[in-house]
Amino acid sequence: MSSREHGAAWSPATRAVAAGRPARTPDAPVNPELVLTSTYHSSQEPTARMYARFANPTWEALEEVLEALEGAPARVFASGMAAVSAVLDRVPPGGLVLTPRGAYNTTLALLDELAAAGRLRVRRLDTTDTAAVEAALDGAALLWLESPTNPLLEVADLRALCAAARAAGALAVVDNTFATPLVQRPLDLGADVVVHSVTKFLAGHSDVVLGAVVTADADLLGALHRSRTLHGAVPGPFEVWLALRGVRTLSVRLERSQASAAELARRLREHPAVSRVRHPSLPDDPGHALALAQMRGFGAVVSLEVRGGAAAADAVCAAVRLWLPATSLGGVESTLERRRRHASEPDVVPEALLRLSVGVEDVEDLWSDLAQALDAVWSPGGP
Ligand SMILES: *Cc1c(COP(=O)(O)O)cnc(C)c1O
Repeated sequence: MSSREHGAAWSPATRAVAAGRPARTPDAPVNPELVLTSTYHSSQEPTARMYARFANPTWEALEEVLEALEGAPARVFASGMAAVSAVLDRVPPGGLVLTPRGAYNTTLALLDELAAAGRLRVRRLDTTDTAAVEAALDGAALLWLESPTNPLLEVADLRALCAAARAAGALAVVDNTFATPLVQRPLDLGADVVVHSVTKFLAGHSDVVLGAVVTADADLLGALHRSRTLHGAVPGPFEVWLALRGVRTLSVRLERSQASAAELARRLREHPAVSRVRHPSLPDDPGHALALAQMRGFGAVVSLEVRGGAAAADAVCAAVRLWLPATSLGGVESTLERRRRHASEPDVVPEALLRLSVGVEDVEDLWSDLAQALDAVWSPGGP
């Protein structure tokens, strides 16, 4: 019996470890093999794999893990953006796409490019305002959601919005990169498609770039698979193998990172150099109640605003010694970044906002390093 067959009763943390393994044949390896090949032996009959742009056994192992975690079949892609792009390709010519005003900047940049080229139309809105999204859905082809959003950590009512999208005939897509399937399962909340940057928490070690799509809709899955094959946005088997290794520890990494993120959010709020902290764990965070209703945790990304504007925020990045000033997130190592340093970052993101990705280091070390960096830029007589 394969892990896929009896895995349904296990908890998600267990499935992340047990799924996607070879059959229990004596002397067979316990781990999926790294299959490096560009082609397969053929036969007179058509075969399932044929050529390595179509399929690879190492991809299939990670796809089985993602299916076990998200609850529907998955396909891995060369990057999160390759997965995003394949999904956006499903929008009919001229179709209207609704997105959060603040979302992953490259998703928004791609949508803007497609709109400028006349391929589709795009409208950004406040996805925490459920009524506003419902009103805008009339005639929309696709509702793009992130929750929590990157980097404002805004929480959208996924159940209500996915139901409204369905009623309006729009495809509901959720980028679940920030929450991961251990914290939030958008398909259970009514989403049609889940997208991941596997680069982040799923792989978890800042050593690969990888993406995935997940959907229970067989026709849509077939179209996304075909898109991967035709556009050639295929991952390297070694990257997938590393992500498989990384995902085994997702549950323990997240448990630690989420607990530290909540603790740091609480302490940061008391620091005089910080004007605002965003994390759904905070009882007065605008997303707190919704997060409790639809998530099993609050995630390991925290955003804060530094008093004194962009220069002060940059100075904090320059003053940390343990935290790594770097873009990206979801690794075992804690990183921080002032997001508006990117020209493509939407201007709803404050200039002085630092996005913190909390890793698995000791929380006291993380705190003392952050605190000394904030102390260094803050002067009582200053701004
Ligand atoms: C990083 C990220 C992406 C893009 O993924 P890549 O693997 O970098 O291509 C998409 N969405 C979110 C929320 C991300 O953080």
